[in-house]
Amino acid sequence: MLDKVLIANRGEIALRILRACKELDIKTVAVHSKVDAALKHVKLADEAVCIGPNPSPQSYLNVPALISAMEITGASGVHPGYGFLAENADFAEQVEKSGFVFIGPTADVIRIMGDKVAAIKTMKAAGVPTVPGSDGPLSSDTATLHATAMRIGYPVIIKAAAGGGGRGMRVVEDQESLVNAVSITKTEAAAAFGDGTVYMEKFLQNPRHVEVQILADGQGHAIHLGDRDCSLQRRHQKVLEEAPAPGIPEDARQAVFESCVTACIQINYRGAGTFEFLYEDGHFYFIEMNTRVQVEHPVSEMITGVDIVKEQLLIASGRALSFKQEDIIFRGHSFECRINAEDPVTFMPQPGTINAYHAPGGNGIRVDSHIYNGYTVPPNYDSLIGKVITYGHDREAALSRMRIALDEMVIDGIKTNIPLHEDLVRDEAFKNGGVNIHYLEKKLGL
Ligand code: ADP
Repeated sequence: MLDKVLIANRGEIALRILRACKELDIKTVAVHSKVDAALKHVKLADEAVCIGPNPSPQSYLNVPALISAMEITGASGVHPGYGFLAENADFAEQVEKSGFVFIGPTADVIRIMGDKVAAIKTMKAAGVPTVPGSDGPLSSDTATLHATAMRIGYPVIIKAAAGGGGRGMRVVEDQESLVNAVSITKTEAAAAFGDGTVYMEKFLQNPRHVEVQILADGQGHAIHLGDRDCSLQRRHQKVLEEAPAPGIPEDARQAVFESCVTACIQINYRGAGTFEFLYEDGHFYFIEMNTRVQVEHPVSEMITGVDIVKEQLLIASGRALSFKQEDIIFRGHSFECRINAEDPVTFMPQPGTINAYHAPGGNGIRVDSHIYNGYTVPPNYDSLIGKVITYGHDREAALSRMRIALDEMVIDGIKTNIPLHEDLVRDEAFKNGGVNIHYLEKKLGL
């Protein structure tokens, strides 16, 4: 068993990891930038190390500082959380080369999934349904480009193989704009990601974002924990998620679950992971795999009773999966609202001091947050300050609890997006379930 884990992250996920470590009697090392010395998990950890100044390249992304902190404190493993170095194959490799355990998949698997062309090829070979596309990188030959787009059918989308965070994509409506669009996307991709490789996919007009949570032990066992719907997005950033995804035919859902589990076994996946799909007209289309724990993992925990972060720690300790698929009982429904320190109308980040905080509570309400009375949200990092998660025996019960929880919650001193969520959970179309990825932006008039 891992005996001491360094948490290479901050905020709510660092606290989430700390709590899971405590449950397993694993000692914890918090690392933090200067401004983050007051974070809740830093105070609760067994040891804390300041790894650098506030800008993340000098602290949370500072690999030599993190490795030194592991050496100094005698940590045996590192949990990267999400964001920062969580999907950085070079970091995973360096951690393992230095003799520590990276709590996640192998560097090779992270590298394949970080290259979307390689990821799609791997998934297709494993039988996971993908978007009709170019089967690899685009050539610069004009005739071939036109032929590929004709075969797929317009509109198409040109995407950077190394892209991420919703950047490096361009929709092409017709043949006239194709060649130019490919060349611009290539140039942009080379500048932004240091890799100009691009590929082509059919552009789906009104899909939903549905993803599948999996756990695998790298010892031949893999299970799924069902799906999540994360279609409510603004600028490709998820705002509110739920599990299970509403209104999906059971046969389509079971088939996609099976394909994800098969793929995990084929690539010898280790740890927690998410298969992201676009879902349209009864069909799933794989777009990418995230090789880490996700912000929205709690909704899957609520409907399965499985603690995903604890499982990550157990798997990284060399344990075989503690569950078989038939042990996983799906029960009820769960929602998660991401609470951001931002203006609810302009979405501008709102750093500052919280002078009054009241968390909601009661049956079926969970709050994952690092904030407290007097905590100052620094301007240096992501604006996520917490997540309100609700559970109910069905969708309506979980949604009703979310309405009550949001109305109860008080965060004074800074602006938050709570008013946006209060509006969303009363939205008629959302209440009916199954809105697509454009719904929120249209509602906001964007
Ligand atoms: P990233 O890694 O940058 O998040 P993804 O491949 O996950 O990139 O795509 C991000 C978003 O872009 C998707 O959630 C979806 O909104 C849109 N998108 C990507 N591919 C397609 C497609 N083929 N058709 C329609 N929308 C797409």
